[in-house]
Amino acid sequence: MSGKVWLVGAGPGDPGLMTVMGMQCLRQADAVVYDRLVNPVLLKETAPHCVLIDVGKRADHHPIPQEQINAILIEQAGLGRKVVRLKGGDPFVFGRGGEEAEALARAGIACDVVPGITSAIGGLARAGIPVTHRDFASSFHVITGHLRDGKDPHNWRLLAQLEGTLVILMGMSRLADICRQLMDHGRAADTPAAVVMNASHPEQRMVLATLATLPEQSRLAGLGAPSLIVIGEVASLALLQMM
Ligand code: SAH
Repeated sequence: MSGKVWLVGAGPGDPGLMTVMGMQCLRQADAVVYDRLVNPVLLKETAPHCVLIDVGKRADHHPIPQEQINAILIEQAGLGRKVVRLKGGDPFVFGRGGEEAEALARAGIACDVVPGITSAIGGLARAGIPVTHRDFASSFHVITGHLRDGKDPHNWRLLAQLEGTLVILMGMSRLADICRQLMDHGRAADTPAAVVMNASHPEQRMVLATLATLPEQSRLAGLGAPSLIVIGEVASLALLQMM
């Protein structure tokens, strides 16, 4: 009999931010297939017989192709195992959880999803930044900074006109370009903006600046991936926490 795969969100990093349901899945798993952003402390919750499969970056720094990860999930479930596919944050927020669910459905393998706290909301919250606030932002927009096949998928003119909070994931290597695009398309240079690195981890770090100064400030502070970029008035509220 074939097994089953649970796509489980591990939350932004602090192990306490994983859901109870996710933890139950982890404890019952026969195999766990995990990503780079998953806190390794969580793996200690697995049973002694559980097989741990790391599909984070390989030694040559290239990601394991998605097809290969799908094949691993199908193979493990095919052995009759309870498989947990453990991902940072929420599995369906830029986590390719949708692609994996599709592949499993095609292979006729049962799949269930356990949502997680996404870094885009929970990571900011741990830095004292509310993603919405009645006085400042009535919407928020979560955007990938990643280029697909070298192409920028975004309409920056449109994004610059939104009054809501912009949260950009996977954007650190393009931070200067992103801030420039938004300013060139009309977002005010003095808009509060922040970078939160390693959100919810003990080594969390943050830089608060403006759209114009954020790239330089975060470069000087030595911030890099994994970081959240947040642009909008709500970023200034993190100051309350710093006082
Ligand atoms: N599914 C994840 C996002 C995966 S994309 C989620 O819901 O959070 C990976 C990107 O998420 C990273 O490049 C970074 O921008 C962001 N990220 C994830 N965890 C983070 C953390 N603890 N601190 C800062 N950024 C984080």
